[in-house]
Amino acid sequence: MSNQSTHSCCSACDREDVEKLPLTDLSEALDRMAALVAPISESQTISLGKALGRILADDVKSAIPLPVSNNSAVDGYAVRLEAMQGQAPFTLSITGRVAAGDDPSKISENSQCIRILTGASVPDWADAVIMQEDTDLSEDGKTATFELRPEQNANIRFAGEDVAKGSVIIEKGAKIDTRHIAIAAASGLGELIAVRPIRVALLATGSELNQPGNPLPPGGIYDSNTPMLVALLSQPHIELTLHRPVKDDLATIQSSIALLAANHDLLLTSGGMSVSDEDYIRRAVAAEAGNFEVKKIRLKPGKPLGFGRIKDCIFIGLPGNPYAALVGYLLFAQSALAHIGGIEKRPQPLKAQAAFTTEKGGKRLEFVPVRITGYSPDGLPQLEKIGRGGSARLRPLINADGLAALPIAEQGVKEADLLDFYPFHSAFEL
Ligand code: AMP
Ligand code: MG
Repeated sequence: MSNQSTHSCCSACDREDVEKLPLTDLSEALDRMAALVAPISESQTISLGKALGRILADDVKSAIPLPVSNNSAVDGYAVRLEAMQGQAPFTLSITGRVAAGDDPSKISENSQCIRILTGASVPDWADAVIMQEDTDLSEDGKTATFELRPEQNANIRFAGEDVAKGSVIIEKGAKIDTRHIAIAAASGLGELIAVRPIRVALLATGSELNQPGNPLPPGGIYDSNTPMLVALLSQPHIELTLHRPVKDDLATIQSSIALLAANHDLLLTSGGMSVSDEDYIRRAVAAEAGNFEVKKIRLKPGKPLGFGRIKDCIFIGLPGNPYAALVGYLLFAQSALAHIGGIEKRPQPLKAQAAFTTEKGGKRLEFVPVRITGYSPDGLPQLEKIGRGGSARLRPLINADGLAALPIAEQGVKEADLLDFYPFHSAFEL
């Protein structure tokens, strides 16, 4: 730790020193975030109907096999192969009928051929099901003639071929989506055990901030970070506390931070992380015995972002500039939330090709809004950069398909360079 400043609190909180704070690379900063966070261990039982978007606290096993019994994949006739010896065609008597939901034990064990419908349980004596399209029925409907002898087990879905009884169907740490709901229901589970919601607090700072919908006083701007972050945080696995935005005043910011850090897993602030004399967050955090794990990031936009701990609460100081706040959230708050909630699977960036050039390289990893303009012969998305940059600009995002990371490099980006691409939506939104 470089906490040897002779100034009042620590090197991170003296504003004249903020400019000199060390820059941490993104990958190292994310590793340090992972190391800083302890996952929530408390869980709660929730009904399946309320499980969407929650995080699974433990592996889920199916108490039954799926399918639960051998059943027919088609509408047709279940046959005993022993009765189909010699030359085709084969004519068999139809001695019963089972539909989905019928108890198959009502059928005589000595049958050779029965009418069977899709999803109906296949009796144990039957070796195969022949599709009704491959069947000739007699006029009176009492016998069926087949031109071919079916393969053993044809058109039978066997018990447990999808899920073996007692096997894991959903792994701990899954964020429950449509697929998980479907398989849990098929296994007969009416409840799941979920991680208790992550308690997140949000505090925007800035004397210029006004709520959208109200008249704007001279010098004021509308607070866009709060609604943006509320939108990002409005998820079933999150319990959000929204503090009203506060003015740039050390005492107010400090008391708000103290209050929120005391009973939340994660505290996000926006604004006030830079070097001016009206930037109070670092000083307020330090005054509350907060410890900055990472003070600034080699990132564009988002250099002033810092994070750490205030007692048991993870704290992330997002920059005030709206685009920088968004990038900071997507990289760091999302990562913190995943670690706190114990989410195992994290969306990874895709590889894509630049369909643009930049004049010179940059000293910080730069996230830019991009649009997909086409695909390379080997299927990589080709990206066009949108807008001329700027950490305050929101308009380029509106036409973007995602963000691309321009690497730290001496030289600028060339056409067809490979870039990490972070799409806003995946092709199959579940
Ligand atoms: P700061 O990080 O406080 O230095 O703010 C950087 C820039 O972002 C300034 O132009 C602020 O007016 C602007 N800003 C800060 N907070 C917000 C917010 N909640 N919504 C929109 N813009 C903001
Ligand atoms: Mg400010």
